[in-house]
Amino acid sequence: MSENFWQDLKKILQKKLNKQHYSTWIEPIKFDEIEGNTINISVSNKFIKDWIEKNYKDLILIEAKKISRDIDGINIKTDKTIKKTFKKDKEEVKKEENNNFKNTNLNINPEYTFSKFISGSSNQFAAAAAMAVANNPATIYNPLFIYGGVGLGKTHLINAIGNEIIKNNKKIKVSYYSSEKFTNELINSIRYGKMDEFRNKFRSIDVLLIDDVQFIAGKERTQEEFFHTFNSLYESHKQIVVTSDKFPKEIPGLEERLRSRFEWGLIADIQPPDIETKQAILEAKAEQNNIILPQEVALFLSNSVISNIRELEGYLVRIGAYSSLTSTPISIEMAKNILKDIIIESNKELTIEDIQKKVSNHFNIKISEIKSSKRVKNLVIPRQIAMYLCRQLTSCSYPEIGDHFGGKDHSTVIHAIKKIEKNIENDSYLRSTIKTIKNTLLPS
Ligand code: ADP
Ligand code: MG
Repeated sequence: MSENFWQDLKKILQKKLNKQHYSTWIEPIKFDEIEGNTINISVSNKFIKDWIEKNYKDLILIEAKKISRDIDGINIKTDKTIKKTFKKDKEEVKKEENNNFKNTNLNINPEYTFSKFISGSSNQFAAAAAMAVANNPATIYNPLFIYGGVGLGKTHLINAIGNEIIKNNKKIKVSYYSSEKFTNELINSIRYGKMDEFRNKFRSIDVLLIDDVQFIAGKERTQEEFFHTFNSLYESHKQIVVTSDKFPKEIPGLEERLRSRFEWGLIADIQPPDIETKQAILEAKAEQNNIILPQEVALFLSNSVISNIRELEGYLVRIGAYSSLTSTPISIEMAKNILKDIIIESNKELTIEDIQKKVSNHFNIKISEIKSSKRVKNLVIPRQIAMYLCRQLTSCSYPEIGDHFGGKDHSTVIHAIKKIEKNIENDSYLRSTIKTIKNTLLPS
C-alpha cells in the first residue's frame, strides 16, 4: 500500500494547503517507507526538516491517520542526494545551450546556504519566503524584498537563495550583486561607452540578487538604470531578490517608481534574534569552528544585549581564540572578562539616551535632529516615536522627557505621545516599526 498511500496523502495535503506552500514544502518530500506505524520520509537538508517538523508534521499526521488509523508517527531524515526539479521551459534551455551558454553564476558565496542558516521566530518568515523563492523562482513572489538591521542575516539568506537554485539546476543563471558593485559596473560602462554590453549582460540573467539596495538611493543614474534592468527582467519573468536595511517606504532618497516596484511582490523582514535563536546560532557556529562552548556560556552570551549576529559570531571567535591560546576551557568568567566593555546585562535600566540613539539609528537621522524642533516629516515621526518609547520604557516624567528633547514643555511631549497612541491602532506599519525598535532596545 505504501507508495499509493503517499500519493493519496499528497493529494489531500494539496487540497488543504495553498499552492506555494504545497510546492515548496510537501511536493519535494521523498517518501521512503512505512515502517511499523511510522511513516519514513526524507528531505534534502536540515533547514527543510526543521521547517516541516515545526509547521507541517502535525497536519501530515492527522491526514495520514484518516487514511490509515494505525499510523502514529512520522520520521524525517535528511538526504543530500535529493534534488528538486526546476521548471524551466525546455525551449528556453535549448536556446540558451545553443547560445553557447556557460554557467556564469556570479559572486555567490558558497558558504551561505540554507543548511547553515538557523531559523527562529525572528527570521523564520524571511527564511521561508527565501526558500519558497529558491524552489519556485519567478513564479510566486517577485520581487522578494528582504529587509532588516545590520548583521541579521540578509546577505546570508540572499546567497542561500542563489546556492539553492544552482544546486537544483546548474543551468539557471544566478547573479549576486552588491549595490556598490552594480553602481561601479554601471559607472565603468558609461565611462567606456559599454552600456549595450552592460544592459545585455543583465538581460541574460535568470535570477538577479541585489544586496543592500539602500545604497543606490539618492544616486539618480544608478536608480534609473536599475529601474530599466528591473523592468526588463520582470517582464521576461525572471526572479529578482532585493535586500535592504529598511522597509521600502523608509529608504531615504529612493525613487517612488522603484519603491512601488519593490512592493509588488513579497516583503519579508528579519528581526533581531531572540535568546533561543541566538543560542542555537552560537552552538552551531561553535561546532563549525571546533570551539567547545559550554551551554551556560552560550546562554550567557545569548542573554547579552548583542543582537547583531555578525558581532555575536566575532565574540565567539575571540573567546575561542583566547581559550585555545591559553589552553584553558571556556568559562563564563572568561567570557565576561573578554567582553567586559561590551556586555551590558540585559536588566540594566534603559535611559532616554539609549532610546534616542536607537530611534535615530533606525531612521538614519542624527541624535541632534531628533532633539531639535525642526518640523519636517522625516524628523517629526521619529521624534514622536522616541518620546512615546521613553514614556513606555523608562520611568521618566513628561517634563524630564521634554528636557532631553531640547527643552520642550510637557504639553508638547503629551501631544506627541497621544498622537502615536492614536495612530498605532490602525497603522500596522507604525506598529511594526515600533516593535522593531523595541526589540533592539529589549533584546530578550
Ligand atoms: P546582514 O547582511 O544582514 O548584515 P549577514 O548575512 O552578513 O548580515 O550576517 C552576518 C553573519 O551572521 C554572517 O556570518 C552570517 O552567516 C551570520 N548569520 C546571520 N544570521 C544567521 C542565522 N540565522 N544562522 C546562522 N548564521 C547567521
Ligand atoms: Mg549584508
